[in-house]
Amino acid sequence: MKVFENISLKAYNTFGIDAKARRMVVLEPGDDPVSLPLEGAWMVLGGGSNMVFTHDYDGTVVRLDTVQEVSVRPDGDCATVTAWGGMVMDDLVAWSLEQGLYGLENLTAIPGTVGASVVQNVGAYGVEAKDVVESVEVYDLGEGRFCTFSNADCRFAYRDSIFKHSAGRFLVLQVRYRLRREFTANLSYKALEGLSHASAAELRQAIADLRWGKLPRPEEHGSAGSFFKNPVVGEEVYESLRQRFADMPEAHRTAEGYKLSAGWLIDRAGWKGRTMGKAGVWPRNALVLYNAGGCTGTEVVALAREIQQDVKQKFGVALDPEAIII
Ligand SMILES: Cc1cc2nc3c(=O)[nH]c(=O)nc-3n(C[C@H](O)[C@H](O)[C@H](O)COP(=O)(O)OP(=O)(O)OC[C@H]3O[C@@H](n4cnc5c(N)ncnc54)[C@H](O)[C@@H]3O)c2cc1C
Repeated sequence: MKVFENISLKAYNTFGIDAKARRMVVLEPGDDPVSLPLEGAWMVLGGGSNMVFTHDYDGTVVRLDTVQEVSVRPDGDCATVTAWGGMVMDDLVAWSLEQGLYGLENLTAIPGTVGASVVQNVGAYGVEAKDVVESVEVYDLGEGRFCTFSNADCRFAYRDSIFKHSAGRFLVLQVRYRLRREFTANLSYKALEGLSHASAAELRQAIADLRWGKLPRPEEHGSAGSFFKNPVVGEEVYESLRQRFADMPEAHRTAEGYKLSAGWLIDRAGWKGRTMGKAGVWPRNALVLYNAGGCTGTEVVALAREIQQDVKQKFGVALDPEAIII
């Protein structure tokens, strides 16, 4: 276990915001979380790729070391893979393909850690973490005990899980996945339609190329990826918007309602490429707010609020942030 006092978080969030934490504790595999020095406030931080710090954190930031620790147990046509929560998610995707284990490939190049991927139920290109997670091992920082959550216990939903509703309580130590030994491409996402003959490695490459065509690379421009969730509306609202905006993309129908494209709403409201202070709306993807050079979290939040108000006024639709604002 490593302990740092009064440490800058700039290198620990992909927005590159220069906030400080009073203390940071970093756990390695084998360290006992029971002995975590927690007094006062604490929070759990992964790769900081979905975080916006609007102020210094007057408490303890708990992180898992980003080492690769993963084990595999064959099980018929499948294999059970157990990965350390601090492992970089994309390293796990690459590793799984090297082993000839499939199911994670559509999650290629999502920044962040294995542990956070279940908190957020990350998703991309037709796959979400919930589709491949078998169970999750956590340390309950509130109660001081270890527990296991089955897939159903995790209550996964769109960018949501039980862990998100009890911020700071559960430290995800390990995630267990059920992966397939045979590759069948999931091409349900429209942009992947032409890839029916692609190998898993080719599919991974194609997804990485698609992603980086429309997202800022964290090493070049700070961001948290999609800043807002796609809003889900009822049939009446959807039909009325379709009448008013013939160019609106068709909504994705889900059990909860019609999922609209937040990126389209923001773009149509005229925000794409605009900056406010040192925070901006990514010119190639209106869903992404980015650090246009030394921005503060307050500037990001101020820009987000303006966009929310404008979209509400123009379309009557509320946008909720996907990014976590501290
Ligand atoms: C360029 C870019 C592209 C992105 N694309 C996508 C995408 O396609 N799909 C998508 O779903 N997301 C995307 N994201 C968002 C982000 O990658 C995910 O939300 C990711 O899971 C965050 O991982 P992290 O380790 O950085 O978590 P953090 O941002 O550090 O934390 C996120 C949340 O998880 C909690 N947490 C982190 N680790 C643990 C742990 N071990 N135990 C308990 N709680 C924990 C934190 O407390 C916080 O509540 C993107 C982000 C960027 C910057």
